[in-house]
Amino acid sequence: MPSQLAHLFFALDALKTGLPEDAFKALTAHKAALGIGAQGPDLFLHNRRTKPSGLRYGTRLHRAGYGSVLAEAALEAAAGGASPLGETAAYLYAFATHAALDRYLHPYINYHAGRRERGRPETAHLAPMHAYLERLIDTALLSARLGVPPSDSRIHAYFDLGSQLPRPIASALAVAFQAVIPSAARDDLLHERIANGYRDARGYYAWAHRDLVGARREAALSAGTQAERIRRLAILHPETVPLGLDVLNLHRRAWRDPCRAGRRRRNESVLQLYAEALAQAAPVVRAVFGMLERAGEAPTDAPTATPEEPGEKTRRPTQGPRGSRALSQSALFVRRLVTDSDLSDHYNRPKRCTKRYSSPLPLYRLLERQLHEIREARGLTR
Ligand SMILES: [Zn+2]
Repeated sequence: MPSQLAHLFFALDALKTGLPEDAFKALTAHKAALGIGAQGPDLFLHNRRTKPSGLRYGTRLHRAGYGSVLAEAALEAAAGGASPLGETAAYLYAFATHAALDRYLHPYINYHAGRRERGRPETAHLAPMHAYLERLIDTALLSARLGVPPSDSRIHAYFDLGSQLPRPIASALAVAFQAVIPSAARDDLLHERIANGYRDARGYYAWAHRDLVGARREAALSAGTQAERIRRLAILHPETVPLGLDVLNLHRRAWRDPCRAGRRRRNESVLQLYAEALAQAAPVVRAVFGMLERAGEAPTDAPTATPEEPGEKTRRPTQGPRGSRALSQSALFVRRLVTDSDLSDHYNRPKRCTKRYSSPLPLYRLLERQLHEIREARGLTR
């Protein structure tokens, strides 16, 4: 996952590109719904404390089914009478953008962060580098966009939707998970997992954005081993990107796709990948907006069945008495735009490919230095 600021900026850009100007303006009133929606399933990846955990839905949605979940959630919101300019809509449009940014940026991030490999203890230190590289990219994007460091970004309002996830959003997610993920349909704790996912994510965003300098200090001075402190520090934004570390690849150095079947030689910058992803995401936002607008106009008791199409194996987002035929077809369109393939690249293959190639940037050393500076200032040695 690119990190929270990249997803937030990307969602705002996709909404601005994909929606009529007045609609975009009206939707910006729902800051937190936009910020939380943009995080898509990453929200559940933060669910590490409160049980029962929704973590499984975070990994499952990155693996498969994103297009179907989005289509089903939009259908549910439409059936519940969500206004195309309301809070639930803002959440859904932003949620709709998550897949494209993940897919376009992941090959670049995976290549430059490296990964921990089973049976190779010398790679253990690489485990938190994926998260840290994403935060370095966030810091670079924030500086380019707003000209401020993360500790001064005053961006926390985008990550707090209140103590509970608003009910229409939580139910749209629950209905969509049940419709698309077989194990969710049997999960008696699904609603609690969704609530806990939001609760822990909200706690993490508050920690990481309200007082970032204090959070870094807390991470660096925390109990445990150095590896544990590094892991905590890696999920906090660094204040600046060190000179000489071109995390956005503005110099267009060559890199290669981590996947064997992927392109051998690539040289895109993060900004170029971001622009390519934006071209994919804006039409999705427009399509979901169209669905909610249509729902406001269409009778809701018309039949929903549409003819089976050749080659269509997964469940279609049209089952159940929810909306008109036109609405069901719009949902199918949304699903086809996004597709159900995994979020680790944009090749839309039926199976996730094994990552083989990487050339990690010297990120561990940066984290070590950061840790050392904070501890030294407190008179502590490692
Ligand atoms: Zn993600």
